[in-house]
Amino acid sequence: MQLKAILNRVQRHRSFVYEAVRLVEGDPPVLEIEVRARANSRPCCSGCGQPGPSYDTQGVRRFEFVPLWGMRVFLVYAMRRVDCRGCGVRVERVPWARGKHTLTETYAWFLAGWARRLSWKEVAEVFRTSWDKVFAAVEMAVEWGRAHQDLAGIRAIGVDEIAWQRSHRYATVVYQIDEHCRRLLWVGPERKAKTLFAFFRWFGAERSAALTFICSDMWKPYLKVIARKAAQAVHVLDRFHIMAHFSKAIDKVRAAEARELKAKGYQPVLKNTRWLLLKRPENLTETQEPRLAELVRYNLRSVRAYLLKEDFQFFWDYVSPHWAGQFLDRWCARTLRSRIEPMKKVARMLRSHRPLLLNWFRAKGAISGGAVEGFNNKAKLTLRKSYGFRSYRAMELALYHSLGALPEPQVTHRFC
Ligand SMILES: [Zn+2]
Repeated sequence: MQLKAILNRVQRHRSFVYEAVRLVEGDPPVLEIEVRARANSRPCCSGCGQPGPSYDTQGVRRFEFVPLWGMRVFLVYAMRRVDCRGCGVRVERVPWARGKHTLTETYAWFLAGWARRLSWKEVAEVFRTSWDKVFAAVEMAVEWGRAHQDLAGIRAIGVDEIAWQRSHRYATVVYQIDEHCRRLLWVGPERKAKTLFAFFRWFGAERSAALTFICSDMWKPYLKVIARKAAQAVHVLDRFHIMAHFSKAIDKVRAAEARELKAKGYQPVLKNTRWLLLKRPENLTETQEPRLAELVRYNLRSVRAYLLKEDFQFFWDYVSPHWAGQFLDRWCARTLRSRIEPMKKVARMLRSHRPLLLNWFRAKGAISGGAVEGFNNKAKLTLRKSYGFRSYRAMELALYHSLGALPEPQVTHRFC
């Protein structure tokens, strides 16, 4: 069987034929496959896509194809120019590559497929290509997927923020969190009101009006925009974000108290206790459990803050918003008497968002609880895996690519 026959099987183009296959010596050697237009075929204009009379033929161009046996493979083709009625003289459009790209679409989809499994750097190394080529491949896949995705029937969304560089730059992410479909819908720079306004512009008024649930943090700009753009939806402050505020508060209390004790010359009882105080009791290890019990004997602010947090966990077990509200009020009153400033701050914040907090119980069962937290972890993982992201665009593409559940074109042959 000849290579040409295999190519015709996996990748056939009606108006073009594969010609000579050459092995070009080098380290490593390269396979070149000549492509020729059929004698009676008319070139298609790259401007409008219409066929027209051939104007002239230009120099050969090489388009990189899926590698074979560790060798890079190139399609070699002399581009024609079309004398287009509408556009004038234009270079032709070829079915295996888009625009000025030197990657064939097949190879780009191949690289993009691997970029979901490996970091972009690894993909570039394994296939002896450049990081920029992998970037271009992922960009193509994401653009195609976003242009072809189905946005019908979205009822619940979650809004979250994500830090994407060490210098604490933020991006806003919006997920679909319906029980039947969860995916990343949208990414925008920063976490300002205008960011979320941009989301709603993209999403469209009709789809926004059909939303029934929106999950978010207590971040003011988000609250403001959601109230303006999807007032009919039940706005839920989700558990994951609320509990994150508790963790931050406990961290503050503990750090301040540890400093204080050290200054007074006490034994460092709070040393290495951070995780004891942040973990749920059921997640403690065997050695951590007795240490926590020991710690609780001291009347420390850190311990009291910890107990307040653990007590608040009962809030989530309520079924009726009414009784949950009663619990919330009692908890806030008690915490405000605690004289632990970071915890009082949490209590004040919860109190001022009481109606939104109680919406959690109205949304129970309708939205996928924990979905936002799950996505948040996956997004962090995606960003960590590719610390080489030099730009916002690359970061955004990586998120869409790994979390967007984007569609891919139907093909007769899959290369990976
Ligand atoms: Zn044209």
